[in-house]
Amino acid sequence: MTDIVSKATRARMMSGIRGKNTNPEVVVRRFLHKQGFRFRLHVASLPGRPDIVLKSYRTCILVHGCFWHRHRNCIYSANPKTRTRFWQEKFASNVRRDAVTRDALIESDWKVIEIWECGVRQNSESKLHWLPSAIRQSRARHVQWPRRSNKASKASGNRQ
Ligand SMILES: [Zn+2]
Repeated sequence: MTDIVSKATRARMMSGIRGKNTNPEVVVRRFLHKQGFRFRLHVASLPGRPDIVLKSYRTCILVHGCFWHRHRNCIYSANPKTRTRFWQEKFASNVRRDAVTRDALIESDWKVIEIWECGVRQNSESKLHWLPSAIRQSRARHVQWPRRSNKASKASGNRQ
């Protein structure tokens, strides 16, 4: 049930908490920039300091690390086997904070697009082809990508 992650994998997961400019976020920013979008970063005046804010589309993009923010059914959100209680509390507080941020933004009439780290690993900008229309056209107030079903998470188990 719980997966054992390699030392290298764990180190990469851990590095995800350092700093604001984690890799997946940079991938998304670079993509948006190439597409000609204008945006601001870590806007302190909005709930939860959203990672990427496209004011003219009233859209916030939140880029989440799968491990820390508990991407459902994702291979990278394996449960650590030790200090379980510590981790569970840590995770619960992250998930709670994300929900509060998301709800507050949506209530203030912002569109919220949540992008999980596993969808935008390096050199995967092309996977973001859906994003411009989600920003410009979609009426959905909340978009989450990628979604992982139980099956998908097993099938895409290999890293790299
Ligand atoms: Zn994930």
